[in-house]
Formats: sequence, structure tokens, C-alpha cells
Amino acid sequence: MAKETVLMIEDEKNILELVKYNLEQEGFRVQTANRGDLGLELARKSKSSLIILDLMLPEIDGIEICKVLKQNDKTSSIPIIMLTAKSQETDKIVGLELGADDYMTKPFSPRELVARVKAVLRRVHEKPKKETVKAGTLEIDFGKHLVTLKGKPVELTSKEYDLLRSLLEADGRVLSREFLLDKVWGYDESLHIETRTVDMHIGQLRKKLKTEAQRIVTVKSAGYRFDHDPTTSIAKVRTWKA
Ligand code: CA
Repeated sequence: MAKETVLMIEDEKNILELVKYNLEQEGFRVQTANRGDLGLELARKSKSSLIILDLMLPEIDGIEICKVLKQNDKTSSIPIIMLTAKSQETDKIVGLELGADDYMTKPFSPRELVARVKAVLRRVHEKPKKETVKAGTLEIDFGKHLVTLKGKPVELTSKEYDLLRSLLEADGRVLSREFLLDKVWGYDESLHIETRTVDMHIGQLRKKLKTEAQRIVTVKSAGYRFDHDPTTSIAKVRTWKA
């Protein structure tokens, strides 16, 4: 099997070298960047299997990098493990909202980090790409762009479909209004739109989902998440305290 490449974006030289050494010992190829902008460039250009991303970085911080990577179709599937300091708890939550797959709080043991890298990669390799998702009487066929309720097609606008898809792909994680705005409306357009617009479209979406409307859960002062039926769930519902 070809060596898997891990990209580590971290400005603390000691941590960078220590983790690099430990990863290489376990047979990984390691690329490094000590600045946010350089890391982002590498992430876009090279095909890394996983990215270890520090939060506080010169030029572009980890949150911004995570956001950019997860919103781009070419890089959104690369798993990200975030490194945070204890004082950055809120940033950690934001990172997870943005789609980071795991996080570690500094100081950490490099061996523990290597174990996490392996666990995340194992999870990614095992997870087949789902073309259709079922939740109760609701079924979404991503390939056909089709949403049905009890077998009958539901007419959704493209924004409503994108919102539903984003929520489903988040695997039960909470997505903030700002994140949804950026993701569904796009960065440029979202600059001129208020987050209330998201609430409005979610409202419309819920109406159309009728009996399954309650699956789109409002999380107070955090955003929205999709509630998969625990019995038919394709994904574990993961929640983080805000
Ligand atoms: Ca740092």
C-alpha cells in the first residue's frame, strides 16, 4: 500500500518536529507548513490523506483554513484534526461545526495524536459514500437530486435542497446560520444576506417535510442539526455543548 500523506500546519517548531517524527515512525509521509497561508496552499495542491491543523497560526488561522477546505468540493473530504489550547474551547466548537473530524487539546502526547490519525483514517476508509439517505419516511437520493416523502417527490427549491443536504452531510453535527449561509448562498452572496434568511428557508423546508419536519432541530444560540432516527440512522448523532 502506498504511503499516506499527512499535512501538518503548525507554527510551533518543536511540536511540528515531534509529531512529524512520530508519524514517520508509523510509516506516514509528512508534509509541513508553519504558516496558515502556506498550509492552505499545500492543502489545495497536494493530495493529503489527512490534515493536522493548529488553530492559532500566522497569516490565516485554523478556523478560516478549515472553513475554506470544507466548503470546497475538491478538499471537503480530507479529514481534519484540530489542535487547540485549553483557552480556545469556543474555537474548538466552531472548528467542529465547520467540519473538523477530531481535535486535540495542547499539551498532548504525540503517540495519542498518531493513534487519532489512524482512527480517523480508518473511519474514512470504512465509510462508503452514501448515495441515498433514509430517515423515517423521508428519503434523499443525492445522485438523482430527489427528495421523497412516503415515496412521493417533494418539490424543493435549490436553496432548500442544499440546506437539507448540508444538514444531512453534517452527520448530526450542529451547523451555525453563518456556516449555512456561506455554504448554501456562497461567500459573495452571503455578505449581503442576513442570517434570518436561513431561518426563513428552514421554515419553508420544514413545511414541505411535513411529518418529518421535526428532524430539523433548532439548537438554541447555535444553529440547526438533522436528527436521524436512531433506529434507521446511518450516522451517530454527535452533539457538542455550546
Ligand atoms: Ca500556534
